[in-house]
Amino acid sequence: LPVHLFWQLGSTNDFLLKRRHLCVNGESCLAEMQTQGRGRRGREWVSPLGCHLYLSYFWRFERGMLAVAGLSLAVGVLLAESLETLGVKDVRLKWPNDLYRSGRKLGGILIEMHGQMGEPCELVIGAGINISMPEGAAVRIDQPWIDLADDLPDLDRTALACRVLAHLDQGLGEFEQSGLKTFVERWRQRDQYADKPVQLLMGERKVVGVARGIDEGGNVLIALPDGQLKAFGGGEISLRAD
Ligand code: ATP
Repeated sequence: LPVHLFWQLGSTNDFLLKRRHLCVNGESCLAEMQTQGRGRRGREWVSPLGCHLYLSYFWRFERGMLAVAGLSLAVGVLLAESLETLGVKDVRLKWPNDLYRSGRKLGGILIEMHGQMGEPCELVIGAGINISMPEGAAVRIDQPWIDLADDLPDLDRTALACRVLAHLDQGLGEFEQSGLKTFVERWRQRDQYADKPVQLLMGERKVVGVARGIDEGGNVLIALPDGQLKAFGGGEISLRAD
């Protein structure tokens, strides 16, 4: 499968999005640095040179856009498992798209897609994982972050990239076949906020409650103060510790 390697790119997602008509399933792109790495809703993904993993992966998804719901949870599981096979313990997942360790943000996932309702769609799955943050690079990160360097100084970045790509190959086939089903339990085992007080931010609206994991559709479950258990899903929601 083609792997595009770059010293510097705007964003690895953008590279694959631009050539999506030519891409085959499993085609990937990695860069040593990104000048315009991004998170959700245009936020910046801080991407300094030669020290982290910035990786994007192309997939033409036959079952169409509606069936993509929950994919970022499956990808979170696949990234956590890839890290675990290389000896990284206690990786946690924050709904819907973040990797955590020791209560701080270790990595993020950004899935972007193109397509029409009812037709196969083209997906670019981006992942950024902090391996060894250089001095001064984190000044623009406006929340607690972590890398792997203190704990695992010998972690091999190339080995991690290979493991992630192989695991995505396998896991996306699984997702294509049976959706989130085989991932739900694996996600719950790594839930950063299980049974913790949280806030859900939805634009102007804020909901406060206790996080109770995810349902089979990948929605986040919140126990509300009145005792009701409610499922929330969709793109414009952020989960925070209360
Ligand atoms: P949400 O819960 O809505 O996803 P988020 O703050 O996790 O909110 P993302 O879009 O997932 O937002 O990621 C972008 C945010 O991640 C940035 O605004 C910044 O706070 C943080 N961030 C940026 N670069 C890094 C990095 N290299 N490591 C850790 N955190 C980062």
